[in-house]
Amino acid sequence: MAKNILDWLRNNLRGQSGSCEDCLKILELIVDGEATALQEKQFRDHIEACLPCYESFNLEKSIKKLLQTKLEKKPVPSDLIESIKSRINETAE
Ligand SMILES: [Zn+2]
Repeated sequence: MAKNILDWLRNNLRGQSGSCEDCLKILELIVDGEATALQEKQFRDHIEACLPCYESFNLEKSIKKLLQTKLEKKPVPSDLIESIKSRINETAE
């Protein structure tokens, strides 16, 4: 009985929390750290009832983390090194 009520609530939340399309727009804001508290709540309500959005949230988060880790490990971007190298070559010629 309690489980049925939970299922019913989940289905209702799903209806109230907007579409997956809206959810993914909020996801982009959250990943960029620009979502409002209300948007975050709407998003969390939705992903609790929607597995595809939940999975894509984790995916986006891991991509962002990976990029951050890479950037932290490489304080100087490789394209900057290349442009410095080419300037040195130009000066030498
Ligand atoms: Zn969804």
